[in-house]
Amino acid sequence: MTIFTSKDFDRHEFVTFKFDQESGLKAIIAIHDRTLGPAIGGCRMWPYQTEADAISDALRLSRGMTYKSAISDLNYGGGKAVIIGDPKKDKSEKLLRAFGRMVQSLDGRYYTGEDVGMTVPDMDIVAQETDYALGLSGGTGDPGKATSFGVFKGIQAAMRFKFGHEDLGGVRIAVQGLGNVGYRLCEYLHKAGAKLIVADIDSVKSKRVAGEFGATIAVPDEIHRSEADVFSPCALGSVINDRSLREIQAPIIAGSANNQLAEPRHGDELMARGVLYAPDYVVNAGGLIDVSSALNTYVLEDSLGHVARIYGRLLEIFERAAAEGRSTAAIADRMAEERFLRPSPIHSQAA
Ligand code: NAD
Repeated sequence: MTIFTSKDFDRHEFVTFKFDQESGLKAIIAIHDRTLGPAIGGCRMWPYQTEADAISDALRLSRGMTYKSAISDLNYGGGKAVIIGDPKKDKSEKLLRAFGRMVQSLDGRYYTGEDVGMTVPDMDIVAQETDYALGLSGGTGDPGKATSFGVFKGIQAAMRFKFGHEDLGGVRIAVQGLGNVGYRLCEYLHKAGAKLIVADIDSVKSKRVAGEFGATIAVPDEIHRSEADVFSPCALGSVINDRSLREIQAPIIAGSANNQLAEPRHGDELMARGVLYAPDYVVNAGGLIDVSSALNTYVLEDSLGHVARIYGRLLEIFERAAAEGRSTAAIADRMAEERFLRPSPIHSQAA
């Protein structure tokens, strides 16, 4: 197993590993970059098949958080924690507390929060051991609410750019993953008159959304093939890959999942196929914007107002990408890097 030469390593500042014998905690925290401020990023608990998969996820997700903060005009860096284990079987108070102590040991270099496999009550336990936990029940709570609102605004922006209007009445939207974000996104979309196609590996969740919002149920790994106007990946990453690219029917992709592109080149391939891609870390920044507001003075309206700016940010990215003939993913990366990349000493000398 390699780190420094791994394809997911991108000048990460710090990666740390923790094993706690008593609770069975096996966790990794990766800090990518702190140029703009302390690193923020959720904690994911997942039954990774291999330790290499867990390290790769921590590296990729923490890098994404740096870009997300930078493009969202926040003064934070990027970090992420992963806990190796099945949240349904392996989570315990002891394990969450041990994770909290791990976060505390970093002395504020990294703030944690919820991600897949973690809940607000879990974070409340983590916060018993650390001053650096966000998204708590006495504070901003579940970031999924703000994230789903941001994705809804992002879908509207993509509709505006692609079709010249943002009326979602009768628009067919395929949502993959009906968890914290996907379920609430369906609620917004249903209210706006969209026709929903949904899928979740947990059939209870898809049946619930079908019952409440009149959605059609699709097979989880085939939903990207649906005849839809918008495909919204809200489950896990790498859904846009060599195989799915050829099968995606929707002219717009906008969803909450992190790291949707399996490889950076897939952004160019989407552009070549005429698919408008809302870069994941731009459209799903609502949760980060919301939880980080707790570090300032928390006012819900201000936070949601900030989340709504995702609409204008995406329009700018779409317009710049079209004007320059580059992919939306490449333009978003450049805009983020303009904020957090410091010139190297060689560049400074040359300047
Ligand atoms: P969640 O765990 O609550 O929900 C994920 C859902 O996806 C679950 O219902 C799960 O059963 C389902 N799922 C997993 N694999 C699937 C598959 N192959 N096909 C269909 N469904 C599948 O997580 P969440 O908080 O809703 O987050 C969803 C995604 O958005 C994740 O990638 C997360 O990293 C990202 N994200 C979440 C937030 C947030 O505020 N929660 C913020 C930014 C990004």
